[in-house]
Amino acid sequence: MEYRGIFDTHAHYDDERFDEDRDTVLGNLAGHGVSLVVDPACDLETCVKTLELSSKYNFLYSAVGVHPHSAESDGNGDWLQKVADFAKNDKVVAIGEIGLDYHYDFSPREKQKEVFAAQLALANDLDLPVIIHDREAHADTLELVKKYRPKGIIHCFSGSAETAREFLKLGMYIGFTGSVTFKNANKLLLAAMEVPDDRILLETDCPYMAPVPYRGQRCDSTLIPATAERLAELRGTDAQTLIDRARENGCRIYGIDAEDIK
Ligand SMILES: [Zn+2]
Repeated sequence: MEYRGIFDTHAHYDDERFDEDRDTVLGNLAGHGVSLVVDPACDLETCVKTLELSSKYNFLYSAVGVHPHSAESDGNGDWLQKVADFAKNDKVVAIGEIGLDYHYDFSPREKQKEVFAAQLALANDLDLPVIIHDREAHADTLELVKKYRPKGIIHCFSGSAETAREFLKLGMYIGFTGSVTFKNANKLLLAAMEVPDDRILLETDCPYMAPVPYRGQRCDSTLIPATAERLAELRGTDAQTLIDRARENGCRIYGIDAEDIK
């Protein structure tokens, strides 16, 4: 089945796993129906890398920010001013990815919260949406989203239906990856049923999270149809319709004018 107008709202093409064939992979996307990509940074170094990519590829946009994993290493000195400076670039459509990760705890939790909160405030100042990473930190993430009330996305959603409802009430969009196709996805699928047509997003989080039957392989945006088909089946629609809604949602939240993108 061939699809068109796919918007991968979260892909890390700056990752070193694409070093050998990045241009080939990106060059092949259009032929597989992928028309838009947002590539979020994870630290100050990948902010530079994603801006290089978005300057080279029309269909690729950037998000800049410091991920919770890098809060300790990069959240020092004039880091926030650096993120603000990166965000002045025309191709930057969001602050991200930012958030809390209590699964790995690579940075102390207090430091994660400090760096996350500072970037939520920055995004509000700049009137940009945020891309939020929330891993096993739902309560604290929710608390900070309630406090700052950003516009934005909970990416690679991994919470319960109840958590999804809470974020939806706060106006957030919810992004789903290949993890909806995994065997243990029951809880996640219940959450996905809660998300209305005008708030759902499709993403890869590549090179990670390849959907079944590609699980464990390096992921890229051409694998989105497997995720879309699973979610469409669950929601009683067809994958192309879901891809179209998700693209419209992605353009709305990121402020991308995509009138002529199909
Ligand atoms: Zn990511």
